[in-house]
Amino acid sequence: MEASSTVFSKILLFDIDGTLLLSGRAGYRALTRTFEEQFGVESGFAGIPVAGQTDALILDAALKRAGLEVTSGAKARFHARYCELFANEIQFPGPRKGLMPGVAELLEVLTRQEKIRCGLLTGNFAKPARIKLQHFDLWKYFYFGAYGDDAPVRDDLVPVAVERARREQVIVQTPGDVVVIGDTPLDVQCAVAAGARSIAVATGSYDEVTLRETVADAVLADFSDTQKTVEVLLS
Ligand SMILES: [Mg+2]
Repeated sequence: MEASSTVFSKILLFDIDGTLLLSGRAGYRALTRTFEEQFGVESGFAGIPVAGQTDALILDAALKRAGLEVTSGAKARFHARYCELFANEIQFPGPRKGLMPGVAELLEVLTRQEKIRCGLLTGNFAKPARIKLQHFDLWKYFYFGAYGDDAPVRDDLVPVAVERARREQVIVQTPGDVVVIGDTPLDVQCAVAAGARSIAVATGSYDEVTLRETVADAVLADFSDTQKTVEVLLS
């Protein structure tokens, strides 16, 4: 039957920062430089929570704290300049910059599974997300994604990713066949909002104990045991 050929057993939606990799604060440096250039405010993002948040909300928080009200045109210019500076900053070393343990092996194994498709679910704006993954040679593993440009609130991103998957003929039978993998309670929350499964991994800003206090379906220390990770993701 032709119709069944497009039904996949799982859609895996990966967060980027703290889950697949750390960019060594390249994003933070690029945000800070853009903010200072454009609005004349130094250290605009110091102390603003970023883990699990969308880039759009992070910018709004910084603007609010600086007492700035800006036009959508100014935000668009910020976005464009941020992308330029990010492409430069990602070239430099930084704290813990690199792939999280086992990520490359995991994606290699998953990509060989016929009925599985990996996508992205990240608060990063789309363009820097792509630059980041290309820098680490991971872009090739992901077929679709939802990004910080698509909605300011992470909870709204899962349906966007699922719709983009559908347009690529990647369809699953139930919402529970969608798995959201991330390193923060906000990643777990967005999965719950969409009826998806959620797997939390303690390689980012939150430890295993904290992540176990969420309703994540499973919590992993990291992805270093490829076989175990695959079993957890696909169970
Ligand atoms: Mg993250």
